[in-house]
Amino acid sequence: MTQADLTTAESADSLEPRIIPRAEHNISRRDVDPEALKVLYRLHNQGYLAYLVGGGVRDLLLGRRPKDFDVGTDAPPGQIRRLFGNSRVIGRRFRLVQVFFRGGKIIEVSTFRRTAEETDGDEVLGANNTYGTPAQDALRRDLTINALFYNIADFSVVDYVGGLKDLRAGLIRAVGDPQVRFHRDPVRVLRAVRHAARTGFTLTPETRQAVEAHAQELALCPSSRVRDELMRDLKGGAAAAWLELAHDTRVLYCLLPSLEAIYGPPDSAERVQAAGLLAKLDQALAAGQAPPEPVILAALLWPALEAVAQREEFPPGRAGRVQWSLLVRRALPELAQAVSFPKRVVERACQIGGLMGFVRYPLPDQRLPKKVRDKGYFAEACTLAGLLGHDLKALDGPGARPSKKRRRRRRRRRPHRSPAAAA
Ligand code: ATP
Ligand code: MG
Repeated sequence: MTQADLTTAESADSLEPRIIPRAEHNISRRDVDPEALKVLYRLHNQGYLAYLVGGGVRDLLLGRRPKDFDVGTDAPPGQIRRLFGNSRVIGRRFRLVQVFFRGGKIIEVSTFRRTAEETDGDEVLGANNTYGTPAQDALRRDLTINALFYNIADFSVVDYVGGLKDLRAGLIRAVGDPQVRFHRDPVRVLRAVRHAARTGFTLTPETRQAVEAHAQELALCPSSRVRDELMRDLKGGAAAAWLELAHDTRVLYCLLPSLEAIYGPPDSAERVQAAGLLAKLDQALAAGQAPPEPVILAALLWPALEAVAQREEFPPGRAGRVQWSLLVRRALPELAQAVSFPKRVVERACQIGGLMGFVRYPLPDQRLPKKVRDKGYFAEACTLAGLLGHDLKALDGPGARPSKKRRRRRRRRRPHRSPAAAA
C-alpha cells in the first residue's frame, strides 16, 4: 500500500512506522528545551506515549533551533490538564493543553488526533476534532518532513510517512495525495511553498503540480488564516526565496492578483528588486532585528508602487512630495487589497511610504519639519528609507536649513542688540 492510499483513519492502523534508533539520527536531548523535556518525561512516567512532534522535530533534524517544541501524546486533554498544575485547556474545534512555565514559556500538548477529512465529503476544510493513534496523527499532517515524531521513551525518531528520507533528500512532499490534501485545506499550498523556501528543498513533482492546481482555492479559505500564513512567509527569514517560488508557482498572483502585471513577466526587473528588498529584511532578521510589519508590506509592494508612479509626472519639491503621498495612499491599498492585511498595517505602510517623498523630491537645504520627526512612525519610515538606499535622518542634520517658522522664532528669541553694543 502506498502512502497516498493511506488517507483514511482505518487504513492508517495497518501502517507500520520506521523506527530510527538514537544512533542513526542527530537529535540530542541537549538541544530539546528543558521544559519540553519535563513535560515529555512526566507523561512517559505516567505510562503515556510522549512524542515531540511537528516542526520542532524537523528543525532539530536539520540542526536548527526550533521556534517551538510541541508535544503529542495518547493522554486525553483532561488527563494532561490534571498532570500539570499550571496548565489550561484551549481550543474549541480541537482541545489542546497549554502548560505554563516561568518566564512566560508555554509548551503545547495535544492528544493524537485523526483527520476527519475522509468523512467530509467534498467540503473544503472539514472539522478536525476526533482523537486518534500516532499513525493517524502523522497522516493528518501537511508535509512528510513535518510529520516526524521523537519518542522520549527510547530517543528514537518514529516515521510513518517517509519524512526522514525526504528530509535527507531535500524534498518537500505532501502527506498522502497532494491533490486531495490541498483541496481539503488550500492553506497547505502556502505551507508547502514556505517550507520549500525556508529549507531550500525542492517540491516533488506531484506536490508542485498540486500547489499550482490548488493555489486559486486559497480564496475559499478564511481570509484571516491566509493573511496569518502569508505574514509568516514574509517574516520567516526566507522572504526573498519565498517571493521567487511564489512567483514560479503563481501562488503570489492568486494571493495578490494586482501584482501579476508587474511582477509576473519572467524578466520583471520589479520582481528582482522586490526580492532584493526582502533579502535585506531577511538579513536584518538574521542579525536579530525584526522588521515591523508595515515595513515588510511596503518592501513587498514598493517596486510595484514605483511602476504605478511611472505613469505620472512629479514636479520637484513640495508639490511632488504631496503628489507622491497621495499616490501611495491610493495605490498601496489597491495593490494589497486581495489579502486582508490589518487596516493599521496598511495605514502605517501608507504613512511611511508617503514620507519617502522627502527623499524622492528633496529641496536644496530642506530640513525635515519637526512635526514629521515627531511622528510615531518616523523610526519605521527611517527603516524603510534605509532599505531603499536613502537616509531620511540626514535631512535632519546640521547642514539642513531650518524651516521658515523656526527661523522666525529664532529671530524673535535673539536678544535685541543696541547699535552701541554692536560697535
Ligand atoms: P514553524 O517552524 O513555522 O512553526 P511548523 O511546521 O511548526 O513551522 P506550525 O504552524 O507551528 O508549523 O504547525 C505545527 C505542525 O502542525 C506542523 O509541523 C504540521 O505537522 C501541522 N500542521 C500545521 N498546519 C497544518 C495544516 N494546515 N494541515 C496539516 N497539518 C498542519
Ligand atoms: Mg511551529
